[in-house]
Amino acid sequence: MSAVSTNQSLFERAQRVIPGGVNSPVRAFRAVGGTPRFIARAQGAYLWDAEGQRYIDYIGSWGPMILGHGHPAVLEAVQRAASRGLSFGAPTEAEIELAEAIITHVPSVEQVRLVSSGTEAAMSAIRLARGATGRSKLIKFEGCYHGHADALLVKAGSGLATFGHPTSAGVPPEVVQHTIVLEYNNLDALEAAFAEHGRELACVMIEPIAGNMNFVRAQLPYMKRLRELCTRHGALLVFDEVMTGFRVALGGAQSLYAAAIPGFKPDISVFGKVIGGGMPLAAFGTTRDIMRQLAPLGPVYQAGTLSGNPVATACGLATLREIAKPGFFDALGTRTRSLVDALAAAARDCGVAFSADCEGGMFGFFFQAELPQHYGAVMATDKDRFNRFFHGMLSRRVYLAPALYEAGFVSASHSEADIAATAAAAREAFKL
Ligand SMILES: *Cc1c(COP(=O)(O)O)cnc(C)c1O
Repeated sequence: MSAVSTNQSLFERAQRVIPGGVNSPVRAFRAVGGTPRFIARAQGAYLWDAEGQRYIDYIGSWGPMILGHGHPAVLEAVQRAASRGLSFGAPTEAEIELAEAIITHVPSVEQVRLVSSGTEAAMSAIRLARGATGRSKLIKFEGCYHGHADALLVKAGSGLATFGHPTSAGVPPEVVQHTIVLEYNNLDALEAAFAEHGRELACVMIEPIAGNMNFVRAQLPYMKRLRELCTRHGALLVFDEVMTGFRVALGGAQSLYAAAIPGFKPDISVFGKVIGGGMPLAAFGTTRDIMRQLAPLGPVYQAGTLSGNPVATACGLATLREIAKPGFFDALGTRTRSLVDALAAAARDCGVAFSADCEGGMFGFFFQAELPQHYGAVMATDKDRFNRFFHGMLSRRVYLAPALYEAGFVSASHSEADIAATAAAAREAFKL
């Protein structure tokens, strides 16, 4: 008899050789407790774990899988690219095509550089902003995640503005002394920070729809004022669209703000997740003028052995071609909205305080009657309530993000039947 691998036995084995048993912390289920599912395969909207259980997947690899798993055009592109060679360390035509595709859909971007992770893209964007402005300070917002580069690993505690207080061990205070952390959507704090530090600010980095504190939109007047302040003080506005890019709309979250605020655009944009279609690929882009600062043209160094990897590039390109087809985002947005509406209806019927929001294929929900506007309000959510719901859904084979501060994702493969099954599970799980 062969040994049967269960999620639990794999988790125990993994913990012996991998810290916490995982290669990225949230996968370990520490926030919700219990045993992570070890995934054996995926197709369309579904994941199958090591025990052969099928789940409706609302994580989508934390964003990339906007088409669902195993899309035939993507698989074919990956297989064709792989058969031609896995990596050359030399330029390829496909990199030009991917850069052209990104630029076509995001008018604020004239040139891009491809890298291998969102962390790398955000870190490089900051180095570029500092190099281009000759300034050191940067503003980020509490609850916004920009990958794990040292200077950005600051979430800060209480108070409106916190200076240089690292959130992770191993980050010396000197490394984050130029990082200012503000409360999201807090206009007074923003005005005060610019009044005090405006002339020393290289950039302000923001998740325009913050998906690393569930789902919180930067309000329009706030974004408008942020743009004005950056322009007036010569600080670059950096949109971290690693999650929202090619996910909330083909043109990213910036296209939504541009539609509402005449002339609006960020200075630098950071992409990842969807643009790799499930392979390690990310990018940062801006105007030709700013990009001139980057090596080999300029003095800001940035490089990568696997940057623009041909297989990852082929995967991203095939994904972008699919999502650029007419009607794609209308259909995805409608499907996601139907999920959010169905969850809200189930919560109402169960008498559970609940609010939810979505845009394109990204959604968030809260066990609060009002949508929170900043990190502190998000974290005021009843964690036990969330955890009961999470496990209630998981045991009913619906795979939601295992932490209340994570956004969820719907793919083009999710059917109305999947949404209905999810709503039926929620109707039971809300009662737990
Ligand atoms: C996921 C994410 C990152 C980090 O990307 P990695 O590829 O995990 O390094 C950065 N910024 C945002 C907004 C993200 O959602």
